[in-house]
Amino acid sequence: MFAYPCPDCESTLAFHEVGCSYEGTPRHEIEKAYIDILSHLIAHSAVMDMHEAPPGMSFKMLASKVSRTLRNLDDPEKKGEWKSIHEDCLHALKRANRLGEREEMAGLYLKSPEERSHDIIPTFEPIKTIYETGPVDGCKDYAVYSMVSWCELVGLGWTQTVNFCTEWLEETNAWDELSWGESSIRQLLRGKKHVHKKGLGWGEYADVAAKTIRASKREPRINVYDKLGSVSADDYDEPN
Ligand SMILES: [Zn+2]
Repeated sequence: MFAYPCPDCESTLAFHEVGCSYEGTPRHEIEKAYIDILSHLIAHSAVMDMHEAPPGMSFKMLASKVSRTLRNLDDPEKKGEWKSIHEDCLHALKRANRLGEREEMAGLYLKSPEERSHDIIPTFEPIKTIYETGPVDGCKDYAVYSMVSWCELVGLGWTQTVNFCTEWLEETNAWDELSWGESSIRQLLRGKKHVHKKGLGWGEYADVAAKTIRASKREPRINVYDKLGSVSADDYDEPN
């Protein structure tokens, strides 16, 4: 289930984080903005089913449609129908990996759960090794850094990133088997929040970590091909 997060602070609850630009905006207004956008896309997919290759609506086109209507150029009677909250929600949907673009049709569409799972499970190196085997001594920091960076790259929000990395550290048994300076996984991940927030990228860290992991001869604990198709970004939505 998509939880209609606040497009600024990502809260899915009635209250916002301090300093959020939507502070005081009730849940139903945020949900309505998402539904306005989704109803456009769903109507659009229905049209795509009926015709062979109708012109699609690219992200830029939809975004410019939103901002055009927002500036009231299209139809003065519809003044106020699209607000800046729509633009922000559109970007939030894109960040949450909900929207795909098909180059050949210039079309924007809603991604299927399978497609989103392919996006969040790393199937290529060096991140695949890090995901399957987990951190080992000598590269714990680089491995965690790289996995947080991966989550940011594939569009997981911060809550999803925490849940994804927690599952990873538990399923690889790395949290239990290795010794960590932090008292909890949550604390460990909090120390890497800047990597996600600033979109730092893993640079050479992932290569170094994967090399160290391979040299350690530790057995992989997760099989990416078992994971594919069985999880999607929604599974990591819940705050815990
Ligand atoms: Zn907010």
